[in-house]
Amino acid sequence: MSKMHEDRTADSASSDSGDDAVVGNVNKTIAYPHGYSGPPKRGHLLFDACFESGNLGRVDYITEHEYDLFVRPDTCNPRFRVWFNFTVENVRPDQRVIFNVVNFSKTKSLYREGMSPVVKSSSRPKWTRIPSKNVFYYRCPDHRKNYVMSFAFCFDRADDEVYQFAYSFPYTYSRLQNYLEKIEHKNMPHVKRELLSLTVQQRKLDMVTITSPENMTSSDKKKIVFVTSRVHPGESPASHVVQGFLDFIISNHPLARVLRDYIIFKVVPMLNPDGVYLGNYRCSLMGFDLNRHWQDPSPWAHPTLHATKQYLMNLHSDPSVVIDFYIDIHAHSTLSNCFMYGNIYDEEERFQRQAVFPRLMCSNADDFSFANTAFNRDVVKAGTGRRFLGGILDESSHCYTLEVSFYSYYNGLSPSPIPYTEESYYRVGRNLAKTFADYYKISSHPAPKPSVGFIRERDRPNSNKNKGQGTSADAANVTTKTRPR
Ligand SMILES: [Zn+2]
Repeated sequence: MSKMHEDRTADSASSDSGDDAVVGNVNKTIAYPHGYSGPPKRGHLLFDACFESGNLGRVDYITEHEYDLFVRPDTCNPRFRVWFNFTVENVRPDQRVIFNVVNFSKTKSLYREGMSPVVKSSSRPKWTRIPSKNVFYYRCPDHRKNYVMSFAFCFDRADDEVYQFAYSFPYTYSRLQNYLEKIEHKNMPHVKRELLSLTVQQRKLDMVTITSPENMTSSDKKKIVFVTSRVHPGESPASHVVQGFLDFIISNHPLARVLRDYIIFKVVPMLNPDGVYLGNYRCSLMGFDLNRHWQDPSPWAHPTLHATKQYLMNLHSDPSVVIDFYIDIHAHSTLSNCFMYGNIYDEEERFQRQAVFPRLMCSNADDFSFANTAFNRDVVKAGTGRRFLGGILDESSHCYTLEVSFYSYYNGLSPSPIPYTEESYYRVGRNLAKTFADYYKISSHPAPKPSVGFIRERDRPNSNKNKGQGTSADAANVTTKTRPR
């Protein structure tokens, strides 16, 4: 309890997060009934978030059956309070509780559409979503009319069962390190892992290059597809998408092999390792939203961004390569499906061309929405990777943000939303990879060398009408509405 008390008072001066301000995670904290001073009993819930990607700032005991939970704000930036990830133990068999998460910094949320937290427990280690019917999202008069997300849960197994709850399927820095080490140990000639930089807290900023070994040495002009992800640390589904993408690109799938012959893939799977490690939602250790600092990243304040940008700028000035694509992968907290954001250019032909890849993705992935895909040049987005690189790279290049919903997709077949799982997030990554084969007209059959370049709209079959994507003519009239990212 003393730790909780410290947490409650330490940051109380911050007006941004109000008088409920919290810093630091709960550390094996027992929520005792009011006035209770005896030893802990079974059923006095023990909360913990002092682990990698953990986040829970404070717990208030309301009754034996109800607890108020406070998200710990991003480090050095109390404006962002969304990601949570904590464990609960010392439960009684069949103990029923309601948890109220009371200090979210966002109001618009997929909780309104049926999103729910994920849960696993020690004897059932696979993450699952809590049933939507047990989740309530509402404006609460008890909490200064904040939006509160409440969920009911029954601890069906007691003994030493540890339950873990999170905003979305966690994907930690260590998990990425393990994954990359496994790939490295396979010693595949078409995969190379490099260290681009270290973070402020000395974690690794990794880059993986995947291409046929001949491309690593030949002097022919080569096409580069550059993919980044996890600049926003709470957007863990983006890491699942990247892993699905990498798994496919490095595999023995015939399409993957042909893709590697024609393209050099460069992937920076986690642009903000410190933020991910710390359990932040939006920011780096020092409280920066790195996706607003592409124009002038500082080597000491934004080292991962600085190194990635430097690497991209070196590629850009290298006459032996051309950066065809830059794609930055995110997760979206208010919209369904996966979709893209692209840039608007004054040159009509270049602008039209930006719509081609999303349309191809739409025909490959039943969860891709062309209707949600939007093109903009808002001033507030000028510091994003997509906008910045769109203004710097060659006229032939394409820069996108790929967004995947934190919750669900509609595929035009089922009337109700289909919640994303870890598996369906991997699939998004595989479909992204396969779309490059369509774009470059690469087939896995022995075939003449593909004509590399963009495919005109009229060459493409018009499929998946149910998902609301427009015709090629729509590409010219695409919405310029501002959308939250
Ligand atoms: Zn994002």
